[in-house]
Amino acid sequence: MSGKHAILSPSSAHRWMVCTGAPAMEQGIEDKGSEYADEGTAAHFLGATCLTEKTDAKNYIGRGIVLWESEDASGESWREHVPTLAKRKAEFVVDGDMIDYVQRYVDLVREYAVGGELLVEQALPIGHLTGEEDAEGTGDAVVLRESEITVADLKYGRGVEVSAIDNEQLKLYGLGALEKYSILGDFTSVRLVIIQPRISYAPSEWVISVDELLLFAKEVMIQSAQAMELWDREIEELTEFLTPGTDTCQWCKAKATCPKLSGFVEEAIGAKFTDLTTADALEQEATVKKLIPSDASLGAKMDTLELIEGWCKAIRAEVERELLAGKPVAGYKLVQGRKSARSWSDDTEAETVLKSMRLKQEQMYDLKLISPTTAEKVLKESPKRWKRIESLISQSEGKPSVAPVTDKRPALELKPLEDSFDVIEPSVAEDLV
Ligand code: SF4
Repeated sequence: MSGKHAILSPSSAHRWMVCTGAPAMEQGIEDKGSEYADEGTAAHFLGATCLTEKTDAKNYIGRGIVLWESEDASGESWREHVPTLAKRKAEFVVDGDMIDYVQRYVDLVREYAVGGELLVEQALPIGHLTGEEDAEGTGDAVVLRESEITVADLKYGRGVEVSAIDNEQLKLYGLGALEKYSILGDFTSVRLVIIQPRISYAPSEWVISVDELLLFAKEVMIQSAQAMELWDREIEELTEFLTPGTDTCQWCKAKATCPKLSGFVEEAIGAKFTDLTTADALEQEATVKKLIPSDASLGAKMDTLELIEGWCKAIRAEVERELLAGKPVAGYKLVQGRKSARSWSDDTEAETVLKSMRLKQEQMYDLKLISPTTAEKVLKESPKRWKRIESLISQSEGKPSVAPVTDKRPALELKPLEDSFDVIEPSVAEDLV
């Protein structure tokens, strides 16, 4: 369950701590949410249920978790417990994958809780730092020990790996936990833990002293005071406070409208945006040529790509949103997209009719052998049979892919292409001609 809505929320602290104009820029832009975010909410619900009921995730296989909203509330609950008048927003059935990943989170939290007091889904106050009355964040799991508080956060995404090291969101949760529980112990450090079971088996963990955390609290107070002061200003007055950066802008809702980000992209690609739809071929070619690295190194250009790609996606989405709202966008229009693949409107009736035509089984059904992943799940309880089939699994090595030098994987050592050819002495070369 989410905490009280905060303008300066812990989950967006990595943004407003750097770009204090961002909350004002994002004002009024709808948060569309996503199926992934909803799935994460369902996984949190299952994890919290297991921890509070002292059960395991497999006990809930096949049960439906519904995200709902009513006139005055929203939440998530088991399918059979949804409030009568609530609108069902999304439903997820607990399957094998969800069980495996959530159980990993539950097991790790239980390990952290050994010898301490475990508190689940805790509202952690942050308003005393951000100046927003009653603002809170939600700590998925908090463990209190004699001199240390552990704050664990479940991240269910499989896209971007998030590190606990110096993580603003977790540090804010840590400060919230200190504010709430300081009377219960003489705490000197806070352990910040991110559990992202779909990306990494091991948690990301970082310990910070209370003294260091209190220094961070001072920074939070300065940055949030500025962000709240900018909240009512017009866009033109915000520009000097907008600070683009790859991590800062990644999830910002104002990407498509932010003047500073578009200036940053122009600078990075070394070209002013021109209307290529009206330019002739030579002009288009000249503009595109300017985008190819010349003076700046390839690596420096590469550093900015993620941000530029995010900006491109945001611009596409904004153009679509404007056109769907009936507003004109120069040079673009909406057209009918390609039809989706054909499907039966009623599977059961189609099956009955096909059977009445006396089609053979193999003509009626597309049969496919199960994958090694499915086989492993099916044979989980039968190690001998799994061992027999396991030897038939093959897996090719991944292709080389580009990663930043900070990536945990070791660098591949490839020979430069010219080193892989034998050097031929000139006399021998002559004989070959
Ligand atoms: S896009 Fe980046 S620079 Fe612009 S408001 Fe958002 S975070 Fe700030």
